[in-house]
Amino acid sequence: MSQAIFSFSVDDGHPLDLRMGALLHKHGIPASFYVPGRNSEGPPVLAATPLRELAQAFEIGSHTLEHRYLARLDMHEALRQITEGKRALQDLLGKPVQGFCYPGGKYRPLHCGMVQAAGFRYARTTQSLRLDVGTQPLEVPTTLQFYPHPRRVLIRNFLSQGHWRERWFVLELLLQEDHWLDRLRRLFAWVVRRGGVFHLWCHSLDVERLGLWQELDRFLAEVADWIPAARRLNNLQLVTRYCEGAPVSTPGFQIIR
Ligand SMILES: [Zn+2]
Repeated sequence: MSQAIFSFSVDDGHPLDLRMGALLHKHGIPASFYVPGRNSEGPPVLAATPLRELAQAFEIGSHTLEHRYLARLDMHEALRQITEGKRALQDLLGKPVQGFCYPGGKYRPLHCGMVQAAGFRYARTTQSLRLDVGTQPLEVPTTLQFYPHPRRVLIRNFLSQGHWRERWFVLELLLQEDHWLDRLRRLFAWVVRRGGVFHLWCHSLDVERLGLWQELDRFLAEVADWIPAARRLNNLQLVTRYCEGAPVSTPGFQIIR
């Protein structure tokens, strides 16, 4: 039996997340959806009723109040985006929201402290090419985005995101294939064989715009074939079970729950 773990997350709370939820449900794959109160970049966000429906089957995490890149905000506004985003989502869902995802992957160490102080249990980043959950619950890495990135983007992200020692062989493995779907499958096959965490993430809107629903359907069917149900986890389960590190200290921030 494979020791591989599969996790899947979806960013931005677009109304097409309902279609994504139906696809995941068909394959018996859990997921985490990171949803802002509204998206200041323009695309719509799920209305209250469909979001509550999605929350019946999947983890819903926060993605700030207005999908703002924290690294571009002053401290006061960053804290407001984090705390108010959590509060608004909890009010809407009527239950605690424990997961957070940094919009655009843009944050500084200071923001990890704010996220922890706001009462989140973990935060997902956009760091790619990792086959583990890391040791830091407020900086949970990913493996790949379901997106046709060209080689130069993979290399640029590799160079800019640190942790090169853990990530180098993954980049090397991916670059052996020319087509992005072949890269995805090659890496997935490696993880199935050797173990590790395969953490895929995407935006429903990208899948729609690029006409990738069928490809995603096919890939998720392969995941369901190779990864036993007990080893398909949402990010809260992944972090709770496998992320051993202690949370960062948060001097100067009041706990808000
Ligand atoms: Zn986003």
